[in-house]
Amino acid sequence: SLTGTDLHLSFGDNHVLRGVDIQVDAGTTTTVIGPSGSGKSTLLRVLNRLHEPQQGDILIDGRSVLGDNPDELRRRIGMVFQQFNLFPHKTVAQNVALAPRKLRGLSKDEAHQLALTQLDAVGLKHKADVRPSTLSGGQQQRVAIARALAMKPEIMFFDEATSALDPELVKGVLALMAELSTEGMTMIVVTHEMGYARDVADNVVFMDEGSVVETGAPEKLFEDAQSDRLRAFLSQVL
Ligand code: ATP
Ligand code: MG
Repeated sequence: SLTGTDLHLSFGDNHVLRGVDIQVDAGTTTTVIGPSGSGKSTLLRVLNRLHEPQQGDILIDGRSVLGDNPDELRRRIGMVFQQFNLFPHKTVAQNVALAPRKLRGLSKDEAHQLALTQLDAVGLKHKADVRPSTLSGGQQQRVAIARALAMKPEIMFFDEATSALDPELVKGVLALMAELSTEGMTMIVVTHEMGYARDVADNVVFMDEGSVVETGAPEKLFEDAQSDRLRAFLSQVL
């Protein structure tokens, strides 16, 4: 499980996270929804300590990780962003093999075999030897997911992973994410795809202005919103 308690972060006098609590049980998927600028991406970056929280705690399986080396935490959390950030001059397989070689200490051959296995899992083994630029956006995003999974993370974070994709490519990436969720990966998914946020989630978190305004099972949040702010948000996006 991953727990954030009373997380605060300010950029200058912009108080972006205002005491966020989040609890993600092992094997479950939490989707995070909310207006632009509400702090969703910042929350993910605080939870993997790309930004250090100015207050609060982060726990994995009940143990605080704030005293650990942040690199250690980032190895345990796989991250997939809107931008795939694949290395253009490396092959698809080399992109996936890179971090396991450098950070998990696998040999070149072990890392290559692992890359092929992960690419197979996202349906792209046949693209192992080409450059990322020859792939569609959806395929590149699946490579980025394979790359994150190759680190054998305990938890996966997705931040608007489908926002940069052409509409016809969104489905394939969402299907892959849903499959991961079904397989029991622990996931936090920030998304504007409300259908997905509802269908795949065990739990939904609604953020507004740096706070968690409402959280709960998807049926409850989407059908029985308690706050005016969530009702207003849903009326705009549904
Ligand atoms: P969106 O749905 O548009 O992606 P979001 O909910 O992910 O929005 P954040 O990106 O977390 O929102 O931004 C929340 C606030 O924090 C915004 O006011 C933003 O300007 C500010 N912010 C985010 N990152 C930084 C940064 N590195 N430096 C300064 N301010 C930042
Ligand atoms: Mg964001």
